[in-house]
Amino acid sequence: MADNEFMAMLADGGFQVGELAKLMHPGGHEVTAKNNADALAQTTQWMQQDTVTLYEPAFAADGCLVRVDVLVKRGDVIEIIEVKAKSFDSTQPDFGSARKSISTGMLPYLQDVAFQKHVVQRAHPACTVTAALMMPDKSKVATVNGLNQLFKVQRQGRQMQVTVDPAARALTDADAVLCEISVDHLVNEILSGEIAYPGGQAMLPALAKDWAAAYAQDKRIAPTIGMHCGGCEFKASLGGPLRSGFHECWMQANHWGADDFAGGTVLDIWNFRGKQK
Ligand code: SF4
Repeated sequence: MADNEFMAMLADGGFQVGELAKLMHPGGHEVTAKNNADALAQTTQWMQQDTVTLYEPAFAADGCLVRVDVLVKRGDVIEIIEVKAKSFDSTQPDFGSARKSISTGMLPYLQDVAFQKHVVQRAHPACTVTAALMMPDKSKVATVNGLNQLFKVQRQGRQMQVTVDPAARALTDADAVLCEISVDHLVNEILSGEIAYPGGQAMLPALAKDWAAAYAQDKRIAPTIGMHCGGCEFKASLGGPLRSGFHECWMQANHWGADDFAGGTVLDIWNFRGKQK
């Protein structure tokens, strides 16, 4: 794949990659509902068919909800395919490192798929659920010039809309610049062992159940702060109109008041390896 096209596809946050993945599994039905209840109802209806391909179907179990990128159902066998914009070399299909079967870099992607497989399996206990990842393949060369231009990404308010050029529908598997790799054995490894999270480790199904129950009861889980808080997604300005999860966690864990943030925190020190300590 030409480097510039490859970078252009990744720069659009994976939206083009997602559309390309659908073209690699043509003839599917898109679950268009944004509302969870409607998406679940649409999915349930389509899943009654013996053979079906779905894009963005929704599944819920034990208080957890997932939207699957691409799902292929053949009788009682369900394949879930998670599309990632992370590049991969299919000629060296190794997810591990010298010491581990799953490298630190691939672990979040595989844990994501493991969670999806767990929820889909719980929602359809009589079926066999398998998992695969679909990613841009660095080893392939695009056979179509301007491939990324066939997928126009437009922002509509907070939503992203992708318009697919009709020419893209003529793409064949030979034109595919994505690779689909079964990760079922790795996902099973994750589901059969404990996963680490800040403050402990536990089996993923048990964790998902506990955290979903806490969410349903609006119960606060005691925070375990650390250097991971440097990338906190729940940070707002202190004293602003929005609540800031970051500040609430650090106040609770350190018994701090608002004034204690005035001088900054250890997280603000650039390139400091002792943050966790
Ligand atoms: S500050 Fe953010 S990252 Fe840290 S424990 Fe709280 S929610 Fe998690």
